[in-house]
Amino acid sequence: MIALKKIFKFVDDNLNALVSDLQMLIRQPSVSAKNEGIEECARLVAKTLKKSGIDSEILRIKKGIAPVVYGEVKSKTNPKKTLLFYNHYDVQPAEPFELWDDAPFSGKIKGNKIFGRGSSDDKGELITRIKAVEAFLKTEGDIPCNIKFLIEGEEETGSANIDKYLKKFRKKFSCDGVIWEFGYVDSKNRPVVGLGMKGLLFVELIKEESKIDAHSSLAVIIKNPAWRLIEAVNTLRDSSGKILIKDWYKEVKSFSKKDLALLKSEPIDENSFKKEFGIQEFVGKKKGLELKKALAGSPTCNIAGMISGYTGQGAKTVLPSKAVIKIDFRLVPNMDPKKQVARLKKHLKKKGFGDIKIKVYHGEAAARTDPDDPFVKNVKTSADQIYGKSIVNVSNAGTGPMHSFVKFLKAPCISIGSTYIFAKIHSPNEFTRIDLLKKTTKCICLIIKKF
Ligand SMILES: [Zn+2]
Repeated sequence: MIALKKIFKFVDDNLNALVSDLQMLIRQPSVSAKNEGIEECARLVAKTLKKSGIDSEILRIKKGIAPVVYGEVKSKTNPKKTLLFYNHYDVQPAEPFELWDDAPFSGKIKGNKIFGRGSSDDKGELITRIKAVEAFLKTEGDIPCNIKFLIEGEEETGSANIDKYLKKFRKKFSCDGVIWEFGYVDSKNRPVVGLGMKGLLFVELIKEESKIDAHSSLAVIIKNPAWRLIEAVNTLRDSSGKILIKDWYKEVKSFSKKDLALLKSEPIDENSFKKEFGIQEFVGKKKGLELKKALAGSPTCNIAGMISGYTGQGAKTVLPSKAVIKIDFRLVPNMDPKKQVARLKKHLKKKGFGDIKIKVYHGEAAARTDPDDPFVKNVKTSADQIYGKSIVNVSNAGTGPMHSFVKFLKAPCISIGSTYIFAKIHSPNEFTRIDLLKKTTKCICLIIKKF
């Protein structure tokens, strides 16, 4: 019988080492968007795993693609069950540099906070997983289940090759459960146990009319491609947010009773949400349960950007030759990005907009873990015990490559972690909280023990 007390004491006694190892990781920039420090960081992560007693290996599929760092520990007492940690060692670009109070890769400590790009997302999360495994190995000389790590280097640029890695190394990564790469702690210090991620389809609608921009007096005889796109996108959804493309919702299932119960019990602070964004009302005047249902389970059609004509200061009377509208569609379970693209194409054609080009940038499906899966209970009770009462979230409103993990590994994925909801991830002055790093490390220990 493993004495948890001893394990937790190890975590407490070795908190300084956790902090300094995290600082070391932060100080190694690893910006995937600019291919800055990726190889160096992969090597550093592999070294950090080894130092904690975890076998590590750098996996590659092709030159020019960021390597995956693999880690593994075999359990002597329970070699039949395997828990996999999915994390990433790459970070978002630190720009704009001038808005940081300290150098972005400083790892500077101020009170309970460690600052730096990647301090929360995702190096802070990664270190809690590593240190939890280390706590078992250094106190017990064994671990209650097999542990695997899949630490990728392209998450912040959209995990373009995660499918290829999962396919090629499917056997190596085989497992019975996945702890997702992040997890939030809300403004009232309640941990959020996340059961799903939405999918994403990102497209550009492009209309080219004339060879060159023209004097806008010619608008009486030359068509304006910006107007053309506006007319086209106006057919995509209504003002309540409902998407008007035929069969767009065809495969979407309504929430199960269990999902609805979870949604009802999930707190949402509508007023501070409005205050945070400086908005008066939500789309379609949604509130309460409707709002939560939308966040967890509604597909979206969002205009992410529009490019056409003159966008500089002051006036310029120009008739643009070309217009582009960037659109992201969030997808929910059972929506196939390829099918949805075909439906979008068909819709535009049918509405008389067959002349508009569609460029597809990115398509990934959504995934959700069944709330009745025993793994959910494990994670929830572990979180309850360590942080106090946790919140179970049916699905995050954002997107991650969870569907690839479910497809290739056939294992439930759950997110739990140390990221404070207002930790400024992806923004200047990103930080992580030391108290949450400690709690999360202990929570991961408990999850491992119960697995
Ligand atoms: Zn991120």
